[in-house]
This record gives sequence, C-alpha cells and structure tokens, in this order.
Amino acid sequence: MADSDRDVDPAPSVCPFCGVGCGIRYDQSSGDARGWKGPVNTRAEVCPKGAAAWDVVDHPDRLTTPLVREGGELVETTWEEAFDRVEREFTEIVSADGPDALSLFASSNCTNEENYVFQKIARLLGTNNVDNCARLCHSSTVAAMHERLGAGAMTNSLDDLGEADAFLVVGANPVENHPVIFRSYLLPALREGTTLIVVDPRETPTARAADRHLAVRPGYDIPLLNAMAATIVSEGRDDGEFCDERVAGVDAFEAFAGGVDVEESAALAGVGSQDLRDAARAYAEADRAAIVTGMGLSQHRCGTANVHALLNLALLTGNVGRRGSGVNPLRGQNNVQGASDVGALPDMLPGSRPVTDGPARAELAGEWGIDAAELPEAPGLTEVEATHAFGESVRGAFVLGENPAVTEPNANRVADALDELDCLVVQDLFVTETAEHADVVLPGSAWAERGGTVTNTDRQVLRMRPNVAPPGDARRDLDVLCEIGSRLTGSPDAFAYDDPAAVFEELTRVTPPYAGMSYDGIGTGSQRWPFPEGAEGGTAVLHESTYANGERRAQLRVVEHVDPVDAVGDDDLVLTTGRVVEHFNSGALTRRSDRLTRMAGPQRLQIHPDDAEARGIAEGDRVIVESERGSVRVGVEVTPAVGRGRVFATFHTAEPLVNTLTGDALDPVAKIPEYKHSAVRVRVDSDF
Ligand code: SF4
Repeated sequence: MADSDRDVDPAPSVCPFCGVGCGIRYDQSSGDARGWKGPVNTRAEVCPKGAAAWDVVDHPDRLTTPLVREGGELVETTWEEAFDRVEREFTEIVSADGPDALSLFASSNCTNEENYVFQKIARLLGTNNVDNCARLCHSSTVAAMHERLGAGAMTNSLDDLGEADAFLVVGANPVENHPVIFRSYLLPALREGTTLIVVDPRETPTARAADRHLAVRPGYDIPLLNAMAATIVSEGRDDGEFCDERVAGVDAFEAFAGGVDVEESAALAGVGSQDLRDAARAYAEADRAAIVTGMGLSQHRCGTANVHALLNLALLTGNVGRRGSGVNPLRGQNNVQGASDVGALPDMLPGSRPVTDGPARAELAGEWGIDAAELPEAPGLTEVEATHAFGESVRGAFVLGENPAVTEPNANRVADALDELDCLVVQDLFVTETAEHADVVLPGSAWAERGGTVTNTDRQVLRMRPNVAPPGDARRDLDVLCEIGSRLTGSPDAFAYDDPAAVFEELTRVTPPYAGMSYDGIGTGSQRWPFPEGAEGGTAVLHESTYANGERRAQLRVVEHVDPVDAVGDDDLVLTTGRVVEHFNSGALTRRSDRLTRMAGPQRLQIHPDDAEARGIAEGDRVIVESERGSVRVGVEVTPAVGRGRVFATFHTAEPLVNTLTGDALDPVAKIPEYKHSAVRVRVDSDF
C-alpha cells in the first residue's frame, strides 16, 4: 500500500481519528498502518479505523499542489501565488472591515502546535474569532465541568476507571465510537462484575452489553437525571460525609429534589419509574461509580444544563476525586482536548483562561513581545455563530482540516453561507465538500507526515512523528501556517520556529496545565496534564482534595427541564444522529478508504418496525426524510433498536447529507447545536 514515490521511515505516531490516542505507525512488512504498544493501546490494539489509517495517507485523491479559484473553477497554482492570494484578500478584508471580519476554524484533528500557531495568527491580527469543532461535540460538557469543578476534561484516567464497581454511561456508545477504551479498559471490569448502566435512546451495542438500559426519550435527559437524584436523596443514598466536606448548596438541592415527582419525570423521560429507581440505586450503592458521557447528552439546546444535572449525581454520591469514579467525557477527535487547551477557542486563551482576563492577556502578550492592549479582549464568534455571520459581519474564513459543509447543522444554509464569503481558504488533504466552495485550497499533511503533539481524551499529551514526507508539493501544515502567520501579521519573528518542539516549548510557557512538560520528556510515552513545573508525573485523578479551581466545595445545581426546539407533530418522528465504528466525523477521510466503506455499507436510516409499518415502509426501501430545514433520500433499516417514534442516521456522509435536517438553534452557554433532536417526516420515495 505504500506510495512507491515516497520513502517511508516508520516511526511511532498517533491514530488520527478518535480521542483515544492509540499508537500507530507504518509497518514495512505489511505495507500498512499497524498499532504499536503505546501509552493507551498498551497491547498495540487498534480498531478498524486505526487499521485502515494508511489508506488516507496513500490515497490517489490527495491534494499535491495548491488550488485557486479562477473563472469559477479551482485550478492548480504555485505556493507563492496561493500565499499571495491569501495575503492579499485577507489583508483587504481586515483593512476595510477590521480583523473581526475574519473567522478561523481550527482543527481538533491537527496538533497542539498547529492549533497554537493558528490561534496566535488570529490574536495577533486582533480577533478572537477562532474556534474548533469541540464546539460541536463537547463544548457544553466542558462549560459545565469548567464552571463547577474548574476543569473541562475527564476527571479520571482510563487506567483507574477499571476500578469502578459501576459505570453509568450517558449518551455515549464506546463499543462503537471508542472501541479500544471499551475493549481494554471497560470490558475487563465488566468481566469482573462491574455493573453497567446505559442511558441512551437507542439499543446500541453498548446498551446491549448493559445490566440496565434506560432508553431515554431524546431531549428529556434532565427529567431522568433529576429523578435519579431525587431517588438517591429520598432514599438516603447520598454520601453525607462527602456532601458535608466537599459540596455546597446541599439544602437547597435537597429541597428541590424533594419536589421532583419521580413517576411523572420517568414518564416524561419515556422510561419506567421502577427501572429508573433501580438504576439510581445501582449507581449510588456502588462503592466507586464512574460516569462516562458523550454527545448524546451534550448536543442539545440545553446541553450545558444536561451536564449540570449529571454532575449533581457524582457530587451527591461522593464519586469525585477518587479512583474508579468521576465524570468522564469521551472525546471524539484525536486532539479535541488539546485544540481547546492551547487556546483555539473564541473565549479562552491558552490554558483555558478567559480572553477577558487582563493578567492572562498581559502574560501572553509578554511571551509574544507585544503590548497587552494589542490583544483583543471581547470573546469572538463560535463556529456556528460565525457561519451565521458569513457574508455579513464575517467576509473571510480560513478552515483548517475541518469540513463544516457536512458537520454543521442546517447544511443547506451553511452551503449558501460559504458562498457568501469574499474569500474562503481551506487547508486539507482532499477537495472536501467545504473545499468545493473555497477560493484557495492548500494541500495539507496527513497523520503520518506530521510531527508534534496531541492530547487524548484522558489528558495524555502524546507525540506524533513523521513516517513519510507529504506527497508532491504538499507541505507540512505547521510550515504552511507559519508562512501565512508571518505574511498576514507582518511579524515573521513571531512564526520563526525551527520545528514543532520549539512551538511546544513556547506553548508550555503560556498554558499552565502543560507548564512542566517537555517534548523530549514525552518521548514514546505521555505526560498528562496538569503537569506543573517541577512535576515528575501528571495527575491521574483530578479534584482529590480540592477542585481544579482551588475550591474545597463544588456547588449542587438545581436544573429545570427545557423542551427541545422542534415541536413534534402527530406524524413526526424524532431524528437523532450519531456514529458507526468504521467512520470518522464528516467521513472526509474514512469514506476514502475502500475497506472501511465496504465494512460500513451504505448509510441507512434506522426506523422502528411499528413506525415503518404505519408508513408502508419495508426493509431496503428508500425513503424521503424531511424537516423544516430540508430533505434527504436514504435507504432504511427496520429495527426495534431505535425505539418507537425515533429514527437514527449517522452524520458521516455527504450523500445523503443528514445535517440538512438538523437545526442550528444553540445552547445559550456553550453555543452547541441541537443535533440530537430534530422533528422529521418519513415517507417512501416513490421515485425509487
Ligand atoms: Fe484507537 Fe480511536 Fe484510532 Fe480506533 S479510531 S485505533 S480506538 S484512536
């Protein structure tokens, strides 16, 4: 499978897909990607995506030269002309309308160093309009956890999760979406007798492995979680000693819980009240209980409130600050944690310090050798807010390694918005669905062509190493970004890094949780944040004696249910979206792997047999799915796994483009869209 034109020199790197962070490398004997015994996949195990990762590197559709739009067509050009065009068009926009007329989409799939340089470009230009696609997956989880506990990340390590006596998995499906975590960290505990409770509208493979499955009605997590809390409180199953010492607001919360009608809440959430009570007891009775959470909880208009309701359970039962406990979001991309840690966010500087924090701005300005007043103070636009402003206040955008034309909600609107820009620059491996709208397309580097670091889901910073040079005239992303930063800001010295190690050294100076890390020290192992100056090892379990914000107590929070945005009519079904094991994110990478595409088969809408029968739909039919935003045509899989009144599809495909159906109303705190609840009508496609 190796490209015969390129010399390959195998070196340990990191899988480019999900946030588990498995070690992979090129393997000379098989000519393919293989796992190596990394810090996470300690037995060199990988899932089908990791095993197929070389397909992306060696794909014949790889971009090997820059493209610019001329006469409506993307045509090949030189790097010099492409750089000139980006410099000229972005400089004109900034001169005419100011730096906030630009928006930069960073990448959870690029390294810490690339994201750090990218946000540096934005901030040196004078805008905080930089965001990454953590906005679309776990921004609500991060917001709630940061506010309550002082850190928006897994409270525990994968290693210690196995000590739990119970797992409460809410809105996550690790069997399919984080397979190595399930197989190597959760399954051994389950085999030893750990109880598995799963809250998910669908009977996913993870739910099938569960002792208890609560098939919650999409959008009704808060009634369910509140009723679990009320059961724990009313039956005296809370941890009084922990609440006395480490929790605030207990009396007010208990008064609230006393008013929760468990029967009514269970009915609203679509689950049996006895099942709900049993699940609450199983969680509270466990000596150590670990919560694992995912996008099923976070991707709602009330995603932040959902996570607040979940945090209440952990605090009430004393399941924070101990091995085998905590609240543990599973991150979806290999550097979604790190992209946010190093400041690729519109409201946070490196180290999760608010852009409004004067001393933090002054510290960053000192590192960059500029006056603090030159750094923008007002929070910038989040990803979806930015697309709403395309063609109006935002006239130019730079999309690094993301594919918003497929991943953003209300895709028809996004496609129109991309065309409203005066200048769209896309840096990627292929002409993605977003690049089709671009004015300049810059060929990027794949996982096996880049060096640098990524931060996995349990806060381990891992090193990637090049196995091969980028193909043709393609260049390493970091080199491209430094050239663009130098040209746009007129400050070549600010981007004169010798290598990724030099960027890493700088970012550790302005990212306090990374302060004591070193590039060489990581080696083929990992360093886990928080890793303060002088530390010998990272911290596996957060919040042990104080919370990460320095507080001794965390607050219980009264959370009220919020109805989903879409009203559901009599003939409507509720669409939820999610993932399958074979594909990653927009599918821009994995859809180009023949073996993964074969394994996954075509996209099919899951529909319950009763709902199918009521609409005259049979297995294998093609249907039209319509929402207020648009419609798609797709084949169906008739299955009881999805539950009555619900349908399910993945968001990995461009045809059908399922995000045509989803809405772009946002959570008021985290600005995450409501991907998990869209009212749709489904009917047989009579033209098929
Ligand atoms: Fe590991 Fe995730 Fe890559 Fe699979 S996709 S090999 S679980 S990092």
